[in-house]
Amino acid sequence: MDVENRPSELVGMVTNLGREPLTDNEGRLHRYSVSPAGREDSTKFTEELITFIDRLADPVVERGHRVLGCGISVSGHVDQGVVRISYSAGWGGPKAEDAFPLEEQLVSLPFGVALDNDITSLALHQNISGRPRESYAVVAVLPEGVGGGLVIHGGTWRGSQGMAGEIGHITTRIGKRACHRCGKEGCVEAYATPYALLDQAKPLGITDLEELASRPSTEESIVKLFRSGGRALGQGLEPLINWVNPASIYIYLPPSLSMENRFLAGHAYREEVESEIQHSFSTGARTRLFYEVKSGAEMDALGVRAAASLVLGRLIDHVEKQQDPKSLLRRPN
Ligand SMILES: [Zn+2]
Repeated sequence: MDVENRPSELVGMVTNLGREPLTDNEGRLHRYSVSPAGREDSTKFTEELITFIDRLADPVVERGHRVLGCGISVSGHVDQGVVRISYSAGWGGPKAEDAFPLEEQLVSLPFGVALDNDITSLALHQNISGRPRESYAVVAVLPEGVGGGLVIHGGTWRGSQGMAGEIGHITTRIGKRACHRCGKEGCVEAYATPYALLDQAKPLGITDLEELASRPSTEESIVKLFRSGGRALGQGLEPLINWVNPASIYIYLPPSLSMENRFLAGHAYREEVESEIQHSFSTGARTRLFYEVKSGAEMDALGVRAAASLVLGRLIDHVEKQQDPKSLLRRPN
């Protein structure tokens, strides 16, 4: 079972081990809007999360299935079951003592919980699903944030405190626009997200990203926004390439930021991403970029499957840590 967290909304689904929806659950994504009280209070939010998980699990258990575990993906800094800071969920905070031990809070559930960052979960999901055992990065531009995940030689890399891949808060050279989440000036997220683009387009009276991206490329003021957005993302990828030298980067983008038609404003975004990474040192600019263009609904569906992969990932880790993994596959006497 898996649950993915979004700003004030929980999205969940019950899957099988292949991380496909259970047929008796009709493949439907279940949604729950967190109450205003839950948005204010972490403990109340957690209570609502437990209710939501029970509502997903109970019908499946009643039909005779066994729930192996619950994967939870949440945006922000997640460190070994503890949410250090998640702006979208309101868990944790900038001070160390604000950290919110979410896994521990869910100990009353009758199955184990595996918690991780949303894009690290996506990288793990992609890795379990059969990508080559090479080093690569996964980057996703979400409505309000930019997240990253790393796979190094076939293993998910979380860093010493689970923060590896937080590409959204790398400082760019674009300007001094304040990041609406961390408050720092010039973050990738201050320019590269749909939220940042629409926020800057407010004086033009456009509130829809698709509409903004579909304006003709002769409208310089709009093209400029997409250029800044793409450059910001590219400048976030540049240190990633120089530090990690991944073989490939998989970039998840909404359709409006991945437009093929060069006569439309949105086309400038990807063009600038590609131009910016040319600044990487030596052969870094030859890093292969793969674009995964996904609508919001498609990202939701992928997100819950990625959360389910966390449960599978824990099982695989457990097997790999056994001193004699071969013994696990021996037939019982
Ligand atoms: Zn920031």
